[in-house]
This record gives sequence, structure tokens and C-alpha cells, in this order.
Amino acid sequence: MYNFRFHFIINFNSDNIITTSKLIITDLRKRLKFIPVLIFLYTTNIYSQSIVAFTFDDPNTKNTPLLRWQERNNLILETLDKNQLQATLFVCGHRVNDKNGHQLISEWNNKKHAIANHSFDHRYYHSNKFSYEDFKKDFLKNDSLISGFTNYTKLFRFPYLKEGNTLDKRDSARALMKHYFYKPGYVSIDASDWYIDKLLMDTLGENPSAEIKVYKKLYIDHILERANFYDSLATLLTGRKIKHILLLHHNLISALFLNDLIRAFKNNNWNTISSSDAREDTIYNEFPNIVPAGESIIWALAKSCR
Ligand SMILES: [Zn+2]
Repeated sequence: MYNFRFHFIINFNSDNIITTSKLIITDLRKRLKFIPVLIFLYTTNIYSQSIVAFTFDDPNTKNTPLLRWQERNNLILETLDKNQLQATLFVCGHRVNDKNGHQLISEWNNKKHAIANHSFDHRYYHSNKFSYEDFKKDFLKNDSLISGFTNYTKLFRFPYLKEGNTLDKRDSARALMKHYFYKPGYVSIDASDWYIDKLLMDTLGENPSAEIKVYKKLYIDHILERANFYDSLATLLTGRKIKHILLLHHNLISALFLNDLIRAFKNNNWNTISSSDAREDTIYNEFPNIVPAGESIIWALAKSCR
């Protein structure tokens, strides 16, 4: 906050009080110009609730320190159940292409969560070694793996959120999705839960009885910070509160602390909703005109405005 009193006191005895006063008035005028923007941001951010839905990428059947994969899976599903949240599971085929993997997806499917496409091999579409033709084969291979589930949903999320490093690759992928009646599995809140999970796993790998409270705090603080950042940016871009879609992973840290994360969202003026509701937001119908394409839809739209 600007300290006007202090400004007057230090200038009171100078010979140039008139000049100083003029400067202050000019300064005030400049600041007053921003008041409508500040009021808008204050009222939209403080008085209306922010909204978030949950999606989980890369389900897998690897055991981790503390939990076997079935326990990890059960904990995530039980937390979603308890909070009455329907989520979307973005399946990457090579991680679940066996009996256990099929069981894992079935459990999500039976709980009415959406089963969506996250490619078969999880390749980096911005690589010059990964052509559109290869991308298409990979996309369809994974579609075949999940299309038999009753809650199969035609959403595609690009691995690493990379949607094409050239105009041709980007538009070819968009045309492919359109041809198969797919929509992009956009993310509005992109975070690094995977990295905090790695730190946690490394610590537990060295000492299975290590204190892990610090990772819970890091996880919650980080996700909330990213959520608030993207919420402010989205409000600036659209002039309204959008329904956010958060990207998390099917990992140990989600299994341990998802319930705490949901509680933290609620305690910080966020409302949690089902991912199928969030997808209805018109922001997810956009196709930002940027190359290279990808990242959070909010980030991509902000970049396309420049
Ligand atoms: Zn992934």
C-alpha cells in the first residue's frame, strides 16, 4: 500500500511543497485509473467461489513404497466417492495393457468415472522423430484398448500437453480428433504433482519410515498456488469464473493426500465439481491458434492473445 502520510512528512519542510503536492496528485490520478480493474478482480476473486474438477493421468499397476497398486487405486477411488466427485481417468495404454491394468480401469469404470484416451506409448509429439502418421496409429491403438468400457469418453489428452510443434502436425491431430468425434482433454490447471511424488518416492526409497508430512504440505501448497494463478489468469481473459479442470496423476501422493487437497480447496473458497460438469464450460471448445501448441488451455489462450 502507498504511504501518503509518510510522503507528506518527509517533504513538509522542503522549499518545494507545491511541486511535491502536484506530483502526489498526478500519482493519485494514475492510481485511480486502475481502481475499476482492482474492484473487478477483488469482487470476482473474493466474493464468487472458484470451481475445480479432478482428472487423473497415467493409471498404472506399479507398486510403490507404502502402498501396493490396489491400495493406491482404492484410496483414490474411496476419496472421490466420499466427496461425491466423478473424475476422468486418462489412460495411457502401455501402462495398463495386461490383466491387472484391465482390472484397474474396470474399477474406475464401475464407479462411473469417465475413461479417456492419453495415447498408448506416451510419446512426445513435439519431437521431430514422432510424425503425425505415427501419432495417428498410437491414438487409434489406445482408442481400441478403452473403447469397450461403458464409460469410455471421447477425450484425448496429449502426453506432456504437447499438441504439435508445427502447424501441420497440430492441425492434422485436430482433424483426426474431429473425424473420430473426439474433443481435446484440456487441462486448465497444470501443476507438478509428479515431481513432488518423485521426491516423496525417493525419500521413502531411502528410508521407508521417513517423516512425510513435509510432502503433504508441499503438495497442497503447490497445487493451490497453481490453481489460484490459473484462476486469476482465466478471470482476466474471460471476465468470469470458469470451471477448472485440474491435472493430477495416479500416483502415491494423490493416494495419500487427495482428501487433504480437496479439503484445502474447500477451505480456500473453491467449490469442487464433477469433471463431466466442468467439461461443459465453453472454454473447452476453444482451439488456441499457437505453435508450438499445447500446455494449459488458459496459458495457450493467453499466449494466442499476444
Ligand atoms: Zn501422461
